[in-house]
Amino acid sequence: MNQLQPKATRALITGGAGFIGSHLAEHLLDQGQEVHVVDDLSTGSIENLDSLRGHPGFGHTIADVREEPLLAELVDRADVVYHLAAAVGVKLIVENPVRTIETNIGCTEVLLRLANKKRKKVIIASTSEVYGKNDAVPFLEDHDLVMGPTSKARWSYACSKAIDEFLALAYHKARGLPVVVARLFNTVGPRQTGRYGMVLPTFALQALQGKPITVYGDGTQSRCFSYVSEVVTALAALAQCEAAVGQVVNVGSQQEISIAALAGLVKEVTGSNSKIVLVPYDQAYEEGFEDMQRRVPEVSKLKGLVGFSPQMGIREIVESVVAYYRER
Ligand code: UDP
Repeated sequence: MNQLQPKATRALITGGAGFIGSHLAEHLLDQGQEVHVVDDLSTGSIENLDSLRGHPGFGHTIADVREEPLLAELVDRADVVYHLAAAVGVKLIVENPVRTIETNIGCTEVLLRLANKKRKKVIIASTSEVYGKNDAVPFLEDHDLVMGPTSKARWSYACSKAIDEFLALAYHKARGLPVVVARLFNTVGPRQTGRYGMVLPTFALQALQGKPITVYGDGTQSRCFSYVSEVVTALAALAQCEAAVGQVVNVGSQQEISIAALAGLVKEVTGSNSKIVLVPYDQAYEEGFEDMQRRVPEVSKLKGLVGFSPQMGIREIVESVVAYYRER
């Protein structure tokens, strides 16, 4: 007898050739979903899709998300859209503020308008950067966002992502569009590049190449790093969670480590002879650069909604990233 198979969910991932997007694509395909990636390769890489090509449920289009007719067609064909296309990386943002603002706001605007026309669920990848200089850790989703002045380019990233959040929540409230806003904390793992300033791939490469490990500021600033596989599992789970619709949800780990200690750990795991050097922020980024001292998420909302939060320990994470760079 011919049994009707349940139809696979069709996911569209904007920015799917990026570090997180490509891991998400892999995860969704493993779950039996169909996946289409759209990416302009501005910071993503076609190599990130290598392992997915040839998979029967996978397709990709190289294009800017702001190409409306094309995006309209891709949104039409999808059941759920994961919106990850954005300018990312503090170094890139400080160096290219116009691109940051235009990309982050423009892409989300187009995407939400098109998704709303066809009533498609949208998962918006936002960032812990929106908490800005708030020092009341751990950060709860309804805590205040504390931004620095507009004269400091760094804050354009947080503000542009905050506008994306406002717009997504407005579509939900005013038009009933199903949206989930996921605020991603520092996410790391294989395929992340240090080209846009991210700390762990930068340290791993410096250590493996015997170059100085560059700790910015005095190294007492801290972050909580979560492993990309766990983060994309959380994103996929949020997409399937009815109670998450209309919500802002932190996605991250609560294990905090100072950047100086991270440098030490990378040195230990690689067995490198590299020196750890302190580089003043002004030199690393720009005159008057402002960093966040601590960034720790409250994750009870995520746990309540999907039953888990990223847990992988920092040593295991560093070992995995180092192994990835060693292979290359
Ligand atoms: N950082 C560093 N050395 C580097 C790159 C980054 O000390 O080569 C620091 C950076 O100033 C910040 C932390 O590491 O305090 C995390 O930086 P990243 O850009 O990875 O993420 P952020 O949390 O700033 O978004």
